[in-house]
Amino acid sequence: MTRKYNFCAGPAALPTPVLERAREELLDYEGRGLSVMEMSHRSPEFVTIAENAEANFRALLQVPDNYRVLFLQGGASTQFAMLPYNLLGNGGTPNYLYTGIWGKKAIAEARHLGGAHVAASSEANGLTAVPRPEDIQLSDDAAYLHYTDNETIGGLAFDYIPRSDVPLCCDMSSSILSRPLDVSRFGVIYAGAQKNIGPAGLTLVIVRDDLLDRAKPETPTMFNYRVMAENGSMYNTPPTYAWYLAGLVFDWLKNDVGGVEAIEVINARKAARLYDAIDASGFYSSPIAPINRSRMNVPFVLADESLNTVFLEEAEAAGLLNLKGHRSVGGMRASLYNAVSEAAVEALVGFMSDFEKRHG
Ligand code: PMP
Repeated sequence: MTRKYNFCAGPAALPTPVLERAREELLDYEGRGLSVMEMSHRSPEFVTIAENAEANFRALLQVPDNYRVLFLQGGASTQFAMLPYNLLGNGGTPNYLYTGIWGKKAIAEARHLGGAHVAASSEANGLTAVPRPEDIQLSDDAAYLHYTDNETIGGLAFDYIPRSDVPLCCDMSSSILSRPLDVSRFGVIYAGAQKNIGPAGLTLVIVRDDLLDRAKPETPTMFNYRVMAENGSMYNTPPTYAWYLAGLVFDWLKNDVGGVEAIEVINARKAARLYDAIDASGFYSSPIAPINRSRMNVPFVLADESLNTVFLEEAEAAGLLNLKGHRSVGGMRASLYNAVSEAAVEALVGFMSDFEKRHG
């Protein structure tokens, strides 16, 4: 068996030790004679799995006690709607920073519920730099401020946490667990799991206690943060196997890697290695302002776009998978999430240099 290097933006590479452990436990979980997939979500075995996963996640990000961690479904896209449902019960206008495609989708969902104010935008610079703090202009009646920490498609990342007197809400789908985080700065943080958390099908939400009482009265039950919090994210059947796998990923990150401080150092090294190679070449380029270059998603273009197909074919033959950029922007994109090793980045940089020598 050979595991190739997977640079997919999501569902993304999972740590090999996690998959090995899942394989070992697949048919017979801890001598119970059944798979985790086949257990009742209300069984003591699964409740222990769920509680351990949450405890490890809380420990990794030092989540304060006055925050709830919810294990939900529907992906980050569902949070685009859940957030305004849950935070607009007292009125006011939701405020958004627009820095890319995912933020735009979040704004569209808020508009379905009445409207949204764009407090700052990267439109003028072609989504290549995030707004500076002094450019952010909240509306007088702001109910919350939402931003996308890392735009996965554009490869555009915030270099700071915005200051806000209203609850700060953040889509961290593609950056959560890649570095330490001061959760206390936020009202709500959410993330689809399929990048740094686990397989697709699970969505994590971190919500501050005092925000559980702001839902609009018409909020559907399954959309209500309070209902989910009061039921331990088990109001209905949760995605049990994805939850279990996320628990294995948290265990790996905490105990094998040494936590988010350790992974931050590795992630910084991986990204620097690739951006330095791009910048040193006259053949590859990145349009993103250096201060806002994502460590998780590195989009780049070839000087000669007619070589895109052969680049991807040769990369795949060399065992480097999923380097095609998102269909909306084209070019290439290498996603360097936590489970992508330094060896993978080394192999990619080596391939790119060799390709440039042959085709540049
Ligand atoms: N936000 C960001 C930043 C994303 O990268 C993605 C998915 N790539 C989404 C939201 C949508 O997530 P989902 O597919 O889980 O709904």
